[in-house]
Amino acid sequence: MTIELDFTHDPKACSWVDGAAGHADFPVQNLPFGVFSTDGTRPRGGVAIGEAILDLAAIAPLLDGPAAHSAALAGQPTLNALFAQGQAAMTALRRALFTLLTDAARAEAVRHALHPRVDCALHLPFAIGDYTDFYTGIHHAENVGRLLRPDNPLLPNYKYVPIGYHGRSSSIRPSGVDVRRPRGQTKAPAEDAPSHGPCKRLDYELEMAIWVGQGNELGTPVPIAEAGRHIAGLSILNDWSARDVQAWEYQPLGPFLAKNFHSTISPWVVTIDALAPFRVAQPQRAPGDPAPLPYLFDAQDQQHGALDVTMEVWLRSAAMRDAGLPGVRLSRGAMTAMYWTMAQLLAHHTSGGCNLAAGDLMGTGTLSGADSTSFGSLMEISRGGTVPFALPSGETRTFLEDGDDVTITAYAEREGYARIGFGQCTARILPA
Ligand code: CA
Repeated sequence: MTIELDFTHDPKACSWVDGAAGHADFPVQNLPFGVFSTDGTRPRGGVAIGEAILDLAAIAPLLDGPAAHSAALAGQPTLNALFAQGQAAMTALRRALFTLLTDAARAEAVRHALHPRVDCALHLPFAIGDYTDFYTGIHHAENVGRLLRPDNPLLPNYKYVPIGYHGRSSSIRPSGVDVRRPRGQTKAPAEDAPSHGPCKRLDYELEMAIWVGQGNELGTPVPIAEAGRHIAGLSILNDWSARDVQAWEYQPLGPFLAKNFHSTISPWVVTIDALAPFRVAQPQRAPGDPAPLPYLFDAQDQQHGALDVTMEVWLRSAAMRDAGLPGVRLSRGAMTAMYWTMAQLLAHHTSGGCNLAAGDLMGTGTLSGADSTSFGSLMEISRGGTVPFALPSGETRTFLEDGDDVTITAYAEREGYARIGFGQCTARILPA
């Protein structure tokens, strides 16, 4: 996939919308898509600009041609139809919106379609048909594998095949929706028989959500060189996990109830166009690692297929909130921890004939860095629950307690370009 920068990436460009210039997450160079509603109105598509949301259908009459058609499609309560049009249509819409929001002469005509973000509810951006969770974070795979198999943390397939499983889309919720601690069947190693009750080892997983745009027909794999065109954009994903349930149930068929009770996504879809300035080469594989099989190898993809995006996890307990203490950062890491590129995931997913559709979600898997300041789960930070860590309130944690708020943020920065951000992916743990 060739990567084109255009006038919408100009760092000097400014929007006339108050507060948009220099906004840490949503300057005019970002223009992420989401679904919002205001009091008494139905959900519809919008774009974040500064502290405001632009109602797309409301400005459709101000646009021409395909961009006008796209903006009207965004008036639906999900963005599936909009993104199903494919990459060219999304690029055209982005350019039209950028022009509208940077041309001060259009301000009076557009202003009626802007809503303060604080007055809006944000919903899931898509009707998510299918959710697949991969396992591309190689440091995470090694860290977790080492807890189980100290001498041989990675299984022999890891460097040949992008590991994944089919997850549960019905329990995905947008940021801000509380997470009920799951109940499940668990068996501690010292116990003779399992019992059923509240999860005792509740964890988060720091991931990115990769959204499928244009889909493919059943039986028609997407070649690796074309896979990038089917990727619409990214959100933050917190794939909540019940580690004690997982440990007992996962053999031999893999994750089930430990993973299906709730997943949280940030509500804004940061488009692949907005992320173009932050593309980097896929990190070199370690000496001795096998080369990807031909159906997963594309020179362009290796050269530009990774993204330089930084992700942070923050924790704030109920006691910290009561004491007026801010959240504490548990980790900061990079999306380049992925062993496979996004295009490789999509090409592999379809390589057996599986069809993907607009609004399908692919999770990257937990993205941990090489050292402990960038671990993407409590399982790793607490060494499988054996090493508690202290919070500023004097409390300690190994896994999550009721009342804890977990917030994940992500952003991309690069010299010579405007910083863009993903907003927040946050949720609070409620008792079982
Ligand atoms: Ca996961």
